[in-house]
Amino acid sequence: MDLYEYQAKELFAAHGVPVLPGTVVSEAEEARRAAEEIGGQVVVKAQVKTGGRGKAGGVKLAADPDEAAEKARAILGLDIKGHVTRRVLVTEASEIAEEYYFSFLLDRANRTFLAMASAEGGMEIEQLAAERPEALAKVPIDPLTGVDLDKAREIVTKANFPEVVREKAAEVIVKLWETFVSEDATLVEVNPLVRDPKDEIIALDGKVTLDDNAAFRQPKHADLVDVEAEDPLEAKAKAKGLNYVKLDGQVGIIGNGAGLVMSTLDVVAYAGEKHGGVRPANFLDIGGGASAEVMAAGLEVILGDPDVKSVFVNVFGGITACDAVANGIVEALKILGDNATKPLVVRLDGNNVEEGRRILTEAAHPLVTLVDTMDSAADKAAELAAAGA
Ligand code: GDP
Ligand code: MN
Repeated sequence: MDLYEYQAKELFAAHGVPVLPGTVVSEAEEARRAAEEIGGQVVVKAQVKTGGRGKAGGVKLAADPDEAAEKARAILGLDIKGHVTRRVLVTEASEIAEEYYFSFLLDRANRTFLAMASAEGGMEIEQLAAERPEALAKVPIDPLTGVDLDKAREIVTKANFPEVVREKAAEVIVKLWETFVSEDATLVEVNPLVRDPKDEIIALDGKVTLDDNAAFRQPKHADLVDVEAEDPLEAKAKAKGLNYVKLDGQVGIIGNGAGLVMSTLDVVAYAGEKHGGVRPANFLDIGGGASAEVMAAGLEVILGDPDVKSVFVNVFGGITACDAVANGIVEALKILGDNATKPLVVRLDGNNVEEGRRILTEAAHPLVTLVDTMDSAADKAAELAAAGA
């Protein structure tokens, strides 16, 4: 889960990383009151989960409360790379002497954690890495020893931070590491990390990605979910305990096992090219034990997607054999009754496939087409989606 800047900075503050005080508001008049409370110059910042807000006009300085209201009015509703701004952060304005870049992340390719730092912050990291790679220090972090003050000093030295702020920056980096570890983050990025005219180090921006797989031991993180912004179908699937991701195509997908579902998305996208460019509508892995209830819950979510024109059920029988899955499909269609309205293409293979196919053939549900191979089934599902579009 990605956090908003204000949420990231709240976590920073809780771990002792210096940030400036601020208030999140959703109306211009509230921005005026927030600016009055802060006093002096403020910055009004769009709260959207994407970078480059500054360039897009989503970060503006305001000299007084009137101007804060005016800037908030201009930023609220602003579309930044497809993210519509619903809230702004009104925060004390910092005087900036220098801008640095800093991040901790999970380096999957090298199976380690990585610190990245540069004395040339402000610009986007992709651009910095491309144009000035020598200015970006990359320091692998051993997860067992972590980041103590010595390690942090090594990072700021490699990154060429000016001598006078190295010690302070190192202290902040140790606290960012504490944030990274104790919140189970996979990314903690501060861009810019600034030096103010008094040589204080402040996190002026914050980007944090939390590891959803650690949610079970981070009960407080549930409060950080933005319920309003969640896709309604994804929220419904989550409530049913399903592993579902909404995509933008027309062919609903159900499979068992993440790997099988991923390759199903590929074959459907490929087959769809011959049928007017139809594409997969979602990822849905119903896992190993495909009971009738789970199948019904999955079908219900997918059929509730108005973009879906056909559904491809692709199951490889393993511990749960094909006959159990076939019974699950038949039962699911009974449970759904008139709510099942779109054609289903079913491909079964693996353990007890003959019996599974017999059950579906015998049930002879008018919406179900049984196809033997994955490629032909994908082609059929794409054809039906194109016909129904
Ligand atoms: P981003 O564009 O989405 O990464 O948003 P940032 O929070 O990083 O802000 C973009 C830029 O706005 C920063 O690099 C700063 O130059 C500027 N900025 C942000 N906050 C302040 C502030 O408090 N004071 C001043 N002077 N500039 C700021
Ligand atoms: Mn930034």
